[in-house]
Amino acid sequence: MEDCIFCKIVKGEIPCSKIYENADVLAFLDIAPVNIGHALIIPKQHFVNIYETPENILVEMMKAAKIISKAIKSETNADGINVTMNNDPAAGQVIFHSHIHVIPRLKEDGFGVWHGRRPYNEGEKEEVAKKIIAAL
Ligand SMILES: [Zn+2]
Repeated sequence: MEDCIFCKIVKGEIPCSKIYENADVLAFLDIAPVNIGHALIIPKQHFVNIYETPENILVEMMKAAKIISKAIKSETNADGINVTMNNDPAAGQVIFHSHIHVIPRLKEDGFGVWHGRRPYNEGEKEEVAKKIIAAL
């Protein structure tokens, strides 16, 4: 896609710190990392988000996440790794080319995951589970 920064990275028009690549995906270091070693995995073809990305490509993205997670954890002395995918602006998606974040985490890095969680109201969990199942 023409004005997509990640497509330009795939084409080599914008440089990146590439750490892994195969026929379908590319992984490189995020230029504004949460912690040192924070990487992004993108499909080489343009897909906007998880809804548009074909299953076989998502599988390749997750396989790459597993491969690079081990190396990132050991080489950054991380205590843990987050593997996340933001879809839509409400979920924090900023670049509209499908991508997975692999983020090395340190015990005391102060970067929260979920700020506050809530219990379900009476019957709410069963109702939403029923709706989700019906939509599959
Ligand atoms: Zn793109």
